[in-house]
Amino acid sequence: MIKHKKSFHSHTYLCRHAEGIPLDYLKEAFKQGYQALGISEHAPMPYLKSANSVRMDMSEFPLYLSLLEEGESFAKKHNIAFYKGLEIEYFTEVDIYESYLRDLDYLILGQHYIIENNKFKSTFRLERYEQVELYRNLVMDALKTGYFNMLCHPEICFNNILNPSKEMYELLRPVIKLAKELNIPIELNANGIRKAFKEYNSLDERYYRYPRIEFLKMVKEEGAPVIIGSDTHKVNYLHDWAVEKAYQIAHRLELNIVYDLKMNYYFK
Ligand SMILES: [Zn+2]
Ligand SMILES: [Zn+2]
Repeated sequence: MIKHKKSFHSHTYLCRHAEGIPLDYLKEAFKQGYQALGISEHAPMPYLKSANSVRMDMSEFPLYLSLLEEGESFAKKHNIAFYKGLEIEYFTEVDIYESYLRDLDYLILGQHYIIENNKFKSTFRLERYEQVELYRNLVMDALKTGYFNMLCHPEICFNNILNPSKEMYELLRPVIKLAKELNIPIELNANGIRKAFKEYNSLDERYYRYPRIEFLKMVKEEGAPVIIGSDTHKVNYLHDWAVEKAYQIAHRLELNIVYDLKMNYYFK
């Protein structure tokens, strides 16, 4: 029943909170009989410094590219389609996306920060409706640029909000409609499932900070495409129980599951 043979959301040791190099993930993908693997390390970003240990430094980007190339030759030998990517935030005043898209196959949007009163605010720590609205607006601007082929964990804005109101959830409906219109898959993120298990030692879906079942029901109502993302930070997470659980949820809610991402799309 589970046809998960392609995975596009994986990290490496370079972000300082994950393990492994692209080659390690490719070997695991080969072991799992995968047809395709994409590596999407957290992108170096001007202004957002690596001091908070969530991303590589700009100076490490050439190293990332060479590690990807090393992976690519393994992938070719073993007949796995291999894609080079980054997970990245969108800010209107940053002008780096085209440059990344020249070096890489794809960018996935993981909006871990908003800008509030000219300051970065982590989207793991939003509290108020107005902050979720800022997040929503930024994500919509981002999707419209054409830089991104997938929207990662959109419910990250509720990470710090235990019981979002109906109005808060509804703020995200235009995002879902836009993703459908642009045919950009929305991620059902398995790493949020792992995190809830670690935090509460429970498999209860009500403990998930993301994904959120209420949100996914809206995605179902709108018929937007959904892709399961492992968001792998350890090699043995590539295809684990959390990925299986994500599929169970997607099947139960009868979501419009897709397995592929558009690649090398921007300059076409
Ligand atoms: Zn990460
Ligand atoms: Zn990620």
